[in-house]
Amino acid sequence: FSSTSRRPQTAATLTLLEEHDQLASHGKMSPYEHYNALQQMTNACGIDIPKSKYKPWLHITREHGYILLMKRAGRGCKENGIATTTGSQLAILCPACPREGVNIPADWKHSHLRNGNTILFLCSNALLIIARRQRYMLILMMDANFRLSNIRRSSTLDPGLGTGLAYLVEDSAYHEHYLKYKAQTNISTCSGFKTLEMAEKKDATGLRSTGLCMCACARHKMIRPQGVGNLQKGERYCNMDYIAMSAARNIGLDRFYSYDIACQWNINLQDRMKGLPAYLWPLPDVKLSYGVPKCHAKGHVLSCQCCFSMGLQLGVGNTDGEGIERVWAGIN
Ligand SMILES: [Zn+2]
Ligand SMILES: [Zn+2]
Repeated sequence: FSSTSRRPQTAATLTLLEEHDQLASHGKMSPYEHYNALQQMTNACGIDIPKSKYKPWLHITREHGYILLMKRAGRGCKENGIATTTGSQLAILCPACPREGVNIPADWKHSHLRNGNTILFLCSNALLIIARRQRYMLILMMDANFRLSNIRRSSTLDPGLGTGLAYLVEDSAYHEHYLKYKAQTNISTCSGFKTLEMAEKKDATGLRSTGLCMCACARHKMIRPQGVGNLQKGERYCNMDYIAMSAARNIGLDRFYSYDIACQWNINLQDRMKGLPAYLWPLPDVKLSYGVPKCHAKGHVLSCQCCFSMGLQLGVGNTDGEGIERVWAGIN
């Protein structure tokens, strides 16, 4: 696999790339660490080591990963497939979460009750409609992670390869959105959260991004397509709003968001939503509800626990909402 298509001077074997793919996905190994290990294996004394091939190695691993994504999505079997790949087509969707037209009844919004007393019929119908909507509700969870920061190594931009085609949001639209928001001043009505306090105070010196925010399905821990974005400061609402809406774009099901500061985040969310691109707005009859994960709920004031604890929310069953922390455990 050559590092460039024109007059290549450096190449990596496919065996090495397959090994790197496994080490990166199962061993959390970065290309930097893998390269250092290869260098050590070449010359453990550190004397007379070959000229650094680290930059070509970065190109190779990134391009190889991109091609693998395309291959696994079968884009090579379509005419002009790679060039015509758009909007999160490379992401693997959760097979267990409800999807309209795939794994739920076509008439999921409507009841089937036909017989009986009219009043009873209307009441039971209304309850049944609520119950049915909740049965097919999309239960999502979100959070931010500050371990996944990225150092700014040069003043030039480092454009991503194929952003928006799988789990990360499309760079340019996201960039345009968060640049509109200079400072967030939110006063917490619940206990003093570090999250809100640090939203603007987080030190971003020398960093291209301070961390990641992510939205995944709460019951199966599958990361949502276009449900991941980077953070420029702390856990700001402008980032979280975008990720939350992007992760469920164009979906007509009701949604439940589990978020450790959902009690604060949901305040004025409808107003803030107007600042998002129109294609991210929830469809008109989509109902949004919110909850705080069970373990985090203990840190909230009692009134907040009564309103937002996941143990008391309708339609979420025994979901604890803490799955996002388990996702971070596999990445950090
Ligand atoms: Zn799922
Ligand atoms: Zn609270």
